[in-house]
Amino acid sequence: MDYIHFFGTTGNKDIIFKNIRSAGGLYINIDDTHIVFDPGINTFYKYIHTYGNKETINGIIVSHVHIDHANDLNIFIELMTNGGREKRGSVIVPKQAIDNKILQPYLENFPEKIETIEANRTYKIKNLEITASIPHDHGVECYGFTIKTSKNKIGIVTDTKYFSELLNSYKDCDILIMNVAYHINNKEKAKHLDIPAVEEFIKIIQPTKLVITHFNRHILSENPTEIAKELSKKYNIEVIAAEDDMDLYL
Ligand SMILES: [Zn+2]
Repeated sequence: MDYIHFFGTTGNKDIIFKNIRSAGGLYINIDDTHIVFDPGINTFYKYIHTYGNKETINGIIVSHVHIDHANDLNIFIELMTNGGREKRGSVIVPKQAIDNKILQPYLENFPEKIETIEANRTYKIKNLEITASIPHDHGVECYGFTIKTSKNKIGIVTDTKYFSELLNSYKDCDILIMNVAYHINNKEKAKHLDIPAVEEFIKIIQPTKLVITHFNRHILSENPTEIAKELSKKYNIEVIAAEDDMDLYL
């Protein structure tokens, strides 16, 4: 059964410090391919707790170097390669992760492949094709991705401020997973999406299913599940507000 597991659903420090929700991170298990996506704080322990050490991880992707997306990158490289004893798997990271030594230099020869992200380039991890978006507007080097599976095309719209060209990178997606920190963003300098931006994606991309995640305090206090229900009704598509430890079956 193909699914995407959500380890956590926030990136907001106040929520993480108060342990209300966990930082993000996805486990993608599709077409017999296992990918850890954006392993933030706590993702490693949640992974081990949920899956043990039985499954082979085929790849690790980091969208940008912020701690809620990259904190557990190194320990996952250790896990994927059995502590460097088995050279295997792909690691796909922004160049900044190498330049700033976010990926620890001693691990550079552990995986089979370490690739830096280039806009619009397509990467292969086992049976999946993963294409990077144009650069997101997030203050650090950041990209989203589309994943072509045997059944559909999934877009993972990671952290970014909204701008209309963004939509070009997610064309033809059947399923969208979007990091939506705000309900209504009224701060000019904010580097995250809000619900009006999600509505633009629904209108132009027309996915059949859309998941909102990566919530900050305000949208959480306004009940993301209710917001998702309203969007479902308004646009007649399935909109889901992610919960920590949720499985999205595909
Ligand atoms: Zn970020």
